[in-house]
Amino acid sequence: MNHDFDVISAARNWRTDAVDTATPDQIISSVYSSDVLTLEQLKARLSKPTFKSLQATLERGATLDPSIADTVALAMKTWAMEKGATHYTHWFHPLTGATAEKHDSFVSPNGDGSAIAAFSGKELIQAEPDASSFPSGGLRATFEARGYTAWDASSPAFIMRHANGATLCIPTAFASWTGEALDTKTPLLRSVEALNKAVTPALKLFGASEGTRVSSTLGAEQEYFLIAEEYYYRRPDLVMTGRTLFGAQPPRGQELEDHYFGAIPDRVLSFMTDAEQQLYALGIPVKTRHNEVAPGQFEIAPIFEDSNIAADHQQLTMQVLRNTARKYGLVALLHEKPFAGVNGSGKHCNWSMSTNAGENLLEPGDTPHENLQFLFFTSAVIKAVDEHQDLLRISVASASNDHRLGANEAPPAIISIFLGSELSDIFDRLESGQGGRGAEAGLLGLGTSVLPPLPRHAGDRNRTSPFAFTGNKFEFRAAGSSQSISFPITVLNTIVADAVSALAAELKAKLDAGTDLDTAVAEIVKATYSAHKRIVFNGDGYSDEWHQEAEHGRKLLNLRTTLDAVHHLTDAKNGALFEKFKVLSDRELAARQEIMYDIYFKTVNIEGETTEYMARTMILPAAVKYLSELHAAGGSKAVRGVAAEVEAAADELFDAVQALSAQNAATGGDEVHEKAHHMRDQVLPAMSAVRKAADKLEKVVAEQHWPLPTYRQMLFVK
Ligand code: ADP
Ligand code: MG
Repeated sequence: MNHDFDVISAARNWRTDAVDTATPDQIISSVYSSDVLTLEQLKARLSKPTFKSLQATLERGATLDPSIADTVALAMKTWAMEKGATHYTHWFHPLTGATAEKHDSFVSPNGDGSAIAAFSGKELIQAEPDASSFPSGGLRATFEARGYTAWDASSPAFIMRHANGATLCIPTAFASWTGEALDTKTPLLRSVEALNKAVTPALKLFGASEGTRVSSTLGAEQEYFLIAEEYYYRRPDLVMTGRTLFGAQPPRGQELEDHYFGAIPDRVLSFMTDAEQQLYALGIPVKTRHNEVAPGQFEIAPIFEDSNIAADHQQLTMQVLRNTARKYGLVALLHEKPFAGVNGSGKHCNWSMSTNAGENLLEPGDTPHENLQFLFFTSAVIKAVDEHQDLLRISVASASNDHRLGANEAPPAIISIFLGSELSDIFDRLESGQGGRGAEAGLLGLGTSVLPPLPRHAGDRNRTSPFAFTGNKFEFRAAGSSQSISFPITVLNTIVADAVSALAAELKAKLDAGTDLDTAVAEIVKATYSAHKRIVFNGDGYSDEWHQEAEHGRKLLNLRTTLDAVHHLTDAKNGALFEKFKVLSDRELAARQEIMYDIYFKTVNIEGETTEYMARTMILPAAVKYLSELHAAGGSKAVRGVAAEVEAAADELFDAVQALSAQNAATGGDEVHEKAHHMRDQVLPAMSAVRKAADKLEKVVAEQHWPLPTYRQMLFVK
């Protein structure tokens, strides 16, 4: 049963699939973005007037002018075929959180037995995937099951390659015929626009910016595990659910702390290099790679981009990691908690706001003017996070992320902001009026004309905070490793739009009343911080004291599980917010809530069934086989002793499986939220009991009988 040596020799021989690697010069000159249809590419391929018209469309964020669509489509097709593409697809982001694609061939029969390559403007602008099986949360009754995809021209088309060809991918939004968003991209785009509409006029009040548009920027750090492929296929739980439902703790965990930032194993580094080259070709600016805290855990991070593009690129990054790992005999596990008792994986979302002139609004800067702006926009973020803790928590809620948030792991389910001691000190002094008054005492009365420099990269100083200021951006750390970043960013954009528009109205009123800018901003920052500072916490987010203080002293929300969080999504406050900024209608919001319940229910349901199946057909038989061997071995003290231990654990497992089986067969009700609650309150505890007994067995059954690769094998054999 023990295939360690096979796995190890496979690990030794992986080199059979080595790829040509490019030098940095080659990457910069010929690889980077080589599979992306950039504006420069289009410019070279279109007539001047056509390109101008396309560009105007892009700038207005409007749909493509039908009169130029055929010409643009032809240019796209020609480019794609030169790149070896045989098919095209409208690539979209359904509410499953994954991406979807339906490929159509460029080849079109001519009727006379020959064929031509066809791709019209109509096919570029809009397509109608057979969409009835994508979740719609009730937005689409089956009789009106059709949905359509429409080109999102703000995200460039690209080529997706596989061993035997390539496909032209056209990023699209996905909506129902009644105009309701059936995807994660549409609300994200709407939220970017909401942010722009709120922040650009606010920025005008400060008078100095050259920017005419504001957008959010995003850099998402992806954590993941790698394990040998052979082990993966021998673990039905990993294949079916993405996480191990069984597994005793290995004799060694991450306590030696020798993995983090340690030397990257050769096979892993080769895999990373291959994946990075593909990402470069897709124009994805991956920058850093390193080992993470847990054994077998790694991270890849890009340079930040415009958030809509970053969201597309993040999905592609996950896909490239998954596909490429297989070439090296590895499997990339993107689940939030593939191994119990070992650190989980997150996807830190580094977020800021930037103008089209390249000005980062959360950069403290080194002039009094920049500092004023910085304090104003940072206060708005503090206000937004405090007022909408629930939405941020909901935006990262899933069955898999529940194993991190609120479950003894960073970050906690309580949303708070880490400002760092330097910035906190500045806000505290502002609030208390310490350090003098008025302009004569320096910036906002702080005694200096500019803020002291704030330390960059506070990132690793306090890993326990879910939302940390890290020098010139905020890092939302509660997002899960497998999730789409679209919804968290949609929420962030919208809540900050709301806070900025409220504070900007106050600022404008003060300015109109004749108050000078410095004084007006100082008053607003002070009042805002005073009202919302309960959300600021620089201490240890794991500690029991914090949980006590947060919930009872500060009255912050502690929405421990997905189901505690999700029912707040449709609260009146949230419906009003999303309606006000035209990000999600009430119907669209309700649909998302329904889908979150549904995905939660299905995820745990599959886990429950898989647990039962593995316990019955793999683990119990192994225990029974070992027991019969022991019984045949006669009655020495050791044999009787071992048999008694195995028997006790096997009996416990048998009983636990019966109990789980009963819960798997029950439903808890007809409504999707009732089914979800049944999963959380009945099935999950029953699964835990099964696992507890099975993990005991793992420690007493002879290794040669144990049917599953162990944690020791999966985490340490590379
Ligand atoms: P590192 O951790 O490599 O020292 P940083 O802490 O500066 O780098 O950045 C971590 C992530 O945050 C990267 O993905 C980076 O591109 C991103 N980031 C940096 N600045 C911004 C910004 N203004 N907006 C959004 N993300 C940013
Ligand atoms: Mg980080």
